[in-house]
Amino acid sequence: MHNAVYRRLGLDWVYVPLEVPNETDLLRVVSALRALPFVGFNITMPYKQAMLTLCDEVAMLAQMAGAVNTVHVVDGRLIGYNTDGRGLLETLQNDCGFMPEAKSVVVLGAGGAAGAAFVSFVLGKAARITLVNRDLDRAEALVDRMGGHLRNTIAEVLSYDEAEERVSRADLIINATPAGMKTDDDSPIPASWMRPGQTVLDMIYQVRPTPLVAAAQSVGANAFDGLGMLISQAATAVDIWHNSAQVRTPRDVMREAAEAELRDFHNAEGIDDRA
Ligand code: NAP
Repeated sequence: MHNAVYRRLGLDWVYVPLEVPNETDLLRVVSALRALPFVGFNITMPYKQAMLTLCDEVAMLAQMAGAVNTVHVVDGRLIGYNTDGRGLLETLQNDCGFMPEAKSVVVLGAGGAAGAAFVSFVLGKAARITLVNRDLDRAEALVDRMGGHLRNTIAEVLSYDEAEERVSRADLIINATPAGMKTDDDSPIPASWMRPGQTVLDMIYQVRPTPLVAAAQSVGANAFDGLGMLISQAATAVDIWHNSAQVRTPRDVMREAAEAELRDFHNAEGIDDRA
């Protein structure tokens, strides 16, 4: 989707995957990226938190989220951003018809993607945000980081054992954990916790339908996988790198390329593509 949109925008750029086996290699790769004429790069799981400390400057939203997923290289300096939150809000509004203002939201997870979601919902004036995570300290740390910015939003942390009622009452449920990335994974929460009228967004997009989307659909909830978010966060990164006041990165070009790539991936992996 990146290379497709660079072609459309007439940019002489290429997007390449770089495998980073561990954090020591992350340091080496980032030094190389700083020295070479890269326009920018993305960082994915599990290095988004580590990247925060490797940047020369970090945008306020990324600091609050505690994670950097996009770096702009400007004169050898690394400027860190987080476009996951923007991508999430964009897909919620455009693809799901959901606005978080005054709504009750549950976020499963407390890592980089959950952090970005949490910040977006605070800024989007959600009435209540419940973080549900296995490691409660990690979720509490996220809430503490945003403490001064909460205004009228209630933020709370629950374990999975305590979360059923809050999940059932929520207007929106977000899965920001990797539970469901593998074809034999279970849904991170049971179908019985969800109900018709809720919006459910699983950040996972590799499996279609994801286990959470299948569970949510089985009880009549409005369920979406993470492809829309993937496209929106990627397009927002291109907006940053391209830095053009006139041209907004065309999301439709990226969507078409991403859908085609995903179909090829599913065919190669023998995954039933029912979306
Ligand atoms: P991360 O920083 O590693 O955080 C993972 C979180 O998931 C942690 O809170 C962890 O809990 C929890 N977790 C891990 N395995 C779990 C399991 N089996 N059951 C319940 N909780 C589990 O990862 P991330 O960067 O936030 O990414 C999370 C997911 O979002 C990934 O699947 C990623 O691909 C997806 N994502 C999608 C997009 C998109 O554009 N669609 C963007 C960003 C991320 P503990 O703290 O208790 O260990």
